[in-house]
Amino acid sequence: MTQESHKRPLAVIALGGNAILQPGQKGTAEEQIENVRIAMSSITGIIEEGYDVIITHGNGPQVGNILLQNEEAADVVPAMPLDICGSQTQGMIGYMIQRSMANELAKKGIKKNVATIVTQVQVSPDDPAFKNPTKPIGPFYKEEEAKNLMAEKGWVLKEDAGRGWRRVVPSPNPVSIIEKNVIKTLVNDGYMVVASGGGGIPVMIDESGKIEGIEAVIDKDYAGECLALDVEADIFVILTDVEKVALNYGKPDQINLGKVTIDEMREYANQGHFKAGSMGPKVASILRFIDSGGKRGIITSLDKARAALKGNAGTEVVAK
Ligand code: ADP
Ligand code: MG
Repeated sequence: MTQESHKRPLAVIALGGNAILQPGQKGTAEEQIENVRIAMSSITGIIEEGYDVIITHGNGPQVGNILLQNEEAADVVPAMPLDICGSQTQGMIGYMIQRSMANELAKKGIKKNVATIVTQVQVSPDDPAFKNPTKPIGPFYKEEEAKNLMAEKGWVLKEDAGRGWRRVVPSPNPVSIIEKNVIKTLVNDGYMVVASGGGGIPVMIDESGKIEGIEAVIDKDYAGECLALDVEADIFVILTDVEKVALNYGKPDQINLGKVTIDEMREYANQGHFKAGSMGPKVASILRFIDSGGKRGIITSLDKARAALKGNAGTEVVAK
């Protein structure tokens, strides 16, 4: 199906961690639902602006909590592997989004149904990330526990800046969204879709076509970009907790960026302005999107999303 088949421009929107759980909050259901409600209220503005919307989101704190629950209850209920824990967070966050979005749309008199797709994302067995696990997940352990886990389960654990030992898993690149046709069909039929939550569930496909779940974590910004390309989205928007990407971030000579060409942005990235674990992957995925033929790539905050789509806020990377 080609892009011409949807009447409205299609935006893939990646929601940052703050949209669901804010630093310092405990993570109660009430806190998360209220945060999601605020995020959905803002996203209805994007729908009013005339866009079809696919939402993707992070799951760091949620999957961390599920891993901890698994660990604490391991003597009573068998612990689940990481891919299955990831699927649990897609369902739980998808539910919060579906419910909040339905309520926010009803307030504005917009008729639209929302569906969450449990999403598998193909990764390559040759991805160099598998030789060097870097992504910390789950609870902290004492050194002795950590050594036992490495021996018993074959996990990789690393000492984390004096806070204890923590499991690290590979963070491979997304290659393809397995459910892309389902997602496209739903969008073309007028549904709002939540997909690829937590960066998607990493899977590998062997020569016979068999799909296997992988214990790894795909960066949600990279997965969002892969999704945006796979569904032929017009716009890829990353919503986080800063309105603009900055040069010299946090320093007295900080410069906030508005419209930037792809070449300029690549140059700034090479100069090291964007941190690896936070702004780095956002800028890199926006660059990939525009490089691969995407029309518009925006990074901004939730409250500025609508203005940014009109060209009046945020940081936008343009081809030329
Ligand atoms: P998310 O949960 O949305 O993925 P992250 O914490 O991963 O959020 O990334 C957003 C954070 O990136 C911002 O809160 C900001 O502190 C940080 N950051 C790092 N470098 C920059 C930069 N150059 N410009 C703006 N923000 C930056
Ligand atoms: Mg992040």
